[in-house]
Order: sequence, then C-alpha cells, then structure tokens
Amino acid sequence: MLTGKRVRIRAKGKIFEGIVMPSFTGSLVLKLENGYNAGFREYEIIEVLEDFRAQVPRAEIVRREDLPNVKIISTGGTIASRVDYRTGAVTSQFTAEEIVSDVPEIAEICNVEAELLYNILSENMKPSYWIELARRVYESLKKYEGVIVTHGTDTMHYSASALAFMLSTPKPVVFVGAQRSSDRPSSDAAMNLICSAKLATSDVGEVLVCMHGTTSDEFCYAHRGVKVRKMHTSRRDAFQSINAKPVAKIDYPSLEIEWLSWRYRRGERELKLRDRLEEKVALVKFYPGLGSDIIDYYHSKGYRGFVIEGTGLGHVSTDWIETLKKVCEDSIVVMTSQCLYGRICDRVYDTGRDLLRAGVIEGEDMLPEVALVKLMFLLGNYSLEEAKELVKKNFVGEIEPRSTY
Ligand code: GLU
Repeated sequence: MLTGKRVRIRAKGKIFEGIVMPSFTGSLVLKLENGYNAGFREYEIIEVLEDFRAQVPRAEIVRREDLPNVKIISTGGTIASRVDYRTGAVTSQFTAEEIVSDVPEIAEICNVEAELLYNILSENMKPSYWIELARRVYESLKKYEGVIVTHGTDTMHYSASALAFMLSTPKPVVFVGAQRSSDRPSSDAAMNLICSAKLATSDVGEVLVCMHGTTSDEFCYAHRGVKVRKMHTSRRDAFQSINAKPVAKIDYPSLEIEWLSWRYRRGERELKLRDRLEEKVALVKFYPGLGSDIIDYYHSKGYRGFVIEGTGLGHVSTDWIETLKKVCEDSIVVMTSQCLYGRICDRVYDTGRDLLRAGVIEGEDMLPEVALVKLMFLLGNYSLEEAKELVKKNFVGEIEPRSTY
C-alpha cells in the first residue's frame, strides 16, 4: 500500500514527485508539490521516500471501566479516510487510536475497539460481503454492548437491510457514513460518528442507520435499517425514513435521545444469525415501453425471485401479464412502487387485478431495495412456497401495519 507515502516516479518520459492519494480507479494519483493531483495510468516507481501516515500523532487510548465497550467495523467509503490537503498526509479511521484521535468525543461515550473488514466504495459491495459483515457483527455482539459499521453511503441502506434480516440482535447495530469527507469544513463525519456511538450504547436492539437529520449540525436521526433510503446525491440529510418515522433523534451536542417510534429494546431479542442469501433475485424497474422479455431473460438464467418496481399503485404494462403468469409458476414476483411513498394496491385497476390473478404478490409499503434483500433472505432460507407466504409478513419492521405517511 503506497497511499500516504511520498514517491518519485517516471511517467510520460518525465520524473514526478508527490504523495500518493487514495485512488479507486487503478491509476496512481499523486499530490504534486504545486498542490495539484495528477493521475498516472502507466508509470514506474523510482523511489519511495517517506511515509506521512507515520507522522500523524495518535491519541493513546485509556480504557475507562465506567464506559460501555463498542466495536467499530470499517467497510470503507468517505467516512473511512481523510486527506490533509496541506501536507498531503492521508489518515484513515481504521484503528481505535485513529478514530479517537480524529473524533476525541467518542472516548467520552464508550471504549472503542476497531476492526477493518473492507476498504471499498459501497457500490462495490456484494451479497457475499453482506454475509461476511453479518458474521463479523454477530461475533462482535457476543462481546460488545453495541456495534458501529462505517460504510459508504451509496448502498448503506442495502447493507443495513441485509443485516436486519440476517441478524436477530439484542443490541444496537448502527450503520454510519458521511456525505462529505472529514478533510472538508462541511464534513458530517464526526457528528454522525459521535451520535452513532451514543446510539450504540443506548436502549435499542436493532439495525439502524445514523445520519444527519438536517443540513446543519443540529441532530442526527436513527433510521430503521429496513425503512431508510438515500434520497439525495450530496445533502448531509440525504437519508430519509420512507413510509415510517425515524426511530430516534439524537440531539447535538447534548446527545440526548428522543425516541420517535416503536423499537426493539435492548435485550428484547435473542442473538441469532441466519447467513444464507440467494443471489439470483432481480430488481426490475418498469418504464413505458419496457418489454417483459427482460423477465424471460432473468428467468432463463435461473432467477426465481423478482422484485418489480412498477408505476403508481403497482402496475406494469398489460403486455406483461402472460409472461408473469408463466414465471409465477416456479418463481416469486413481488410488486413495489417507484413512487416509494405509499402502499401497493393492485385491487383498484384492471391491470392490478390481472397481475394478482397471474400470481404477483403485493409488496405492501416495502421499499424496492428492501424487498430485493428480503427475497434474497427468504429464498436463501425457505422453500419457494414458504417464501411466497412469508414475503407478505412483517419480519423486522419492513412492513408497517398501517400507512400513515
Ligand atoms: N460512492 C462511495 C460509497 O458509497 C463514496 C460515497 C460515500 O461514502 O458516501 O462508498
């Protein structure tokens, strides 16, 4: 790993010197003396000069007997690293010392231990990584009062959903990310992390996502992992609970918690892990003109689980009915809505009634991504017939009994 080191390279027939920046494209990115970053696809390293990371002073951790113990598992994303653009030094938040040096307030809330599981952008997550993450969280829950998972924000709601289905937890499992990295003045990383630490030590026993509640530093929301979605590309309050209230509001800087909806309390559920997922489940967004051959294609590839993101109350073109009837014979097809807000009701219009007759199942008020992960979980653990029954049932709060939002 060259990141954070000063190197001299030969590229394009010239010599360059600079500090190696984090790069996710396969190119070498150097911060040059003039402060600019330059990317190199082809290069030859002549010399590695020094390691800037070693020069960053680190806090010494003093364990406090009066504080609970929390495990932080890093998976990558913006929250995981910061660049000091003055020196070019790269500091990551992978060890407990690094985390506490960058966010000293955490040491007032809990004793942290840290583990680096992945250092990836969350668009590179996969169901097999969710499984590994669930196993690590499960092991950590045996020893710690709570677990924090730092994660890229793009797909954090998929990972949170996956863990919510796979893990029955008596303790808090808090996913946290940052929309702006901690080297930027507008960063949300520290406050999100501090509120997460508070949440991880609180009276709750479920999988949550903790992120800024507004665009300023007023409070964070704890969202139920199966009811949350990233709804903005860049705003600090991008994460919103959909068709549900957030579980809690964590005031900043007082860190007082206000519970806003029902919740699983600490100790309410037993610790259990079911770590099988069926990956051959497809999420298909319908749009005017899309042919049902997309469904035939997936079916021919062995997919037996389908989540359709339909229009409005839960519709696709009537041209799809015959295909869906055939596919439903040996597969499970769940309808969700691209409206996101509201509940599926296929009893209102003819198209909906035809879909129900074809065997399509209404996805209630589940988010399409959550229905996708739920189907992976159900098909990984139950027979097709059982899964057809269970998908309509609420497991962990993914289906609200009444639509009030
Ligand atoms: N796209 C990256 C990810 O989701 C970086 C953005 C972020 O961490 O928020 O991991």
